[in-house]
Order: sequence, then C-alpha cells, then structure tokens
Amino acid sequence: MQLQLSTWQEVERYLEGSTGIVIPIGSAEQHGPNGLIGTDAICPEVIARSLGEAAGALIAPTISVGIAQHHLAFAGSMCLRPSTLIALMRDYVVSLSRHGFDRFYFLNGHGGNIATANAAFAEIHSDVSMLVREAPRPIRCRLANWWDGKGVKKLQAELYGDDEGQHATCSEVSVTQYAYPQAIKRVNFDGRAPEYSGIHDADDYRRRYPDGRIGSLPSLSTPEHGKRFHDAAVADLAENYRNFLEAV
Ligand SMILES: [Zn+2]
Repeated sequence: MQLQLSTWQEVERYLEGSTGIVIPIGSAEQHGPNGLIGTDAICPEVIARSLGEAAGALIAPTISVGIAQHHLAFAGSMCLRPSTLIALMRDYVVSLSRHGFDRFYFLNGHGGNIATANAAFAEIHSDVSMLVREAPRPIRCRLANWWDGKGVKKLQAELYGDDEGQHATCSEVSVTQYAYPQAIKRVNFDGRAPEYSGIHDADDYRRRYPDGRIGSLPSLSTPEHGKRFHDAAVADLAENYRNFLEAV
C-alpha cells in the first residue's frame, strides 16, 4: 500500500491496524558507466513496494536525494547537506506522527546516509525528550539497509565474490536492471574498478575512482540477478520489519 496512491480515509483505516510506515531513502549520484544515477533510491523503493505487500505495510514517498558530496565531480549527481537531510527526516516523522504513526522504518539504499540518519534519529528523540510533543506510544525509528540481510549477503558472495565491490556494486545495478529493463546500458569495461582507498572531497574522489566505480565489475549484472536480490531482500526485510513493529 503506497501513501501516494491512497486516500485519507484509507490511511485512517490502515492506522486502526498498524502504526508502522516504511520510508525508502536513497541518493541521486553517479553509479559508474552502466549504473543509473537513481540507483540508491530505486533499489529501496522497488523493494519497499514488495515489502509493503508481503508485510502489509504502508510505504511513504521516497527520499530520493541524500548525502553524496563526494560524487559531485560527476555530471548529474545531487546532494543534500547533512543538516538538510536531518531536517527532512525529522519533518517526515513529525508530520506523520501527528496522525498516529509511531514506528518509522527507513529502508536505506545508500551507505553514505547512515551516519546522518542516525543523527536525525537523535534529533527526533531530542524532540520527544524535551517535550516538544508527547507521543501516546514512544516513537521508534530504525534504519535498515536493503543489502544487510542474510539472503542478500549470501547471493552477493555466490554470484560475484570480490567483483561485487563497494560502489556501483553488481547487486545494486542488477536490482535497477530488474526494475527498469528499458534503462539497461550496454558498456564494455576494462576490468574491475580501483579498490577502496578512502573518500574525501568530490575532486579527490574522481582522481581515485575515474569512472565512478569502487572495486566493482557491474558488467556481471543482469535483470535476472536483480529479481533474485529483490526477492531475497523482501524476505530478509519482512522479518526484520515485523520484529521492529513488535519491539517495545
Ligand atoms: Zn549505490
């Protein structure tokens, strides 16, 4: 069930049975020569839609731009400052909590968002602790990375081994190919990208990783793999989401 495709009466009925909501959060940044700029938002968004069906969860509008200053030397990449993302996440939670939502499950597609998302949770808890607003039930927030479950990890190792890499990974490119087969790019690669050697500013990133990838060989990606990753992630996350709803 998607919030954007629901009426207010449907949301009111949903709230009678559940106070949880899934919020996909990603980034708009280069993903190498065959990876889409929207990769980090597309992956959690398509996985969230299926998770919504599997776990009976409502899915909020995706936060499609995130923390990506280090990608700005590549055309098309966009970035929020950490303070902007914190404010955005806080406003998502505060506005939804007014209706009775109190379990906020941020489904993340971008490693660069993790530190800032945790800072946003600290801001949100500060609001409650400092009595800006009294909640009937304590607000709980969780950040879940779509790739962190056992099923996805196993598949990454099985299909790609070390070629999975750290950025523009084979698995995430596969998921976008499954989601948008019409946008698949055919590109010849010379080989695996440079290994991770640190991330600093945008120009430094482009010097270290000239085509944008880190340690990956996403010519191995296929839409069929993408479906397997999608299914594995939904299974991993459905269990994690149910545990989150039950947590005190
Ligand atoms: Zn990514």
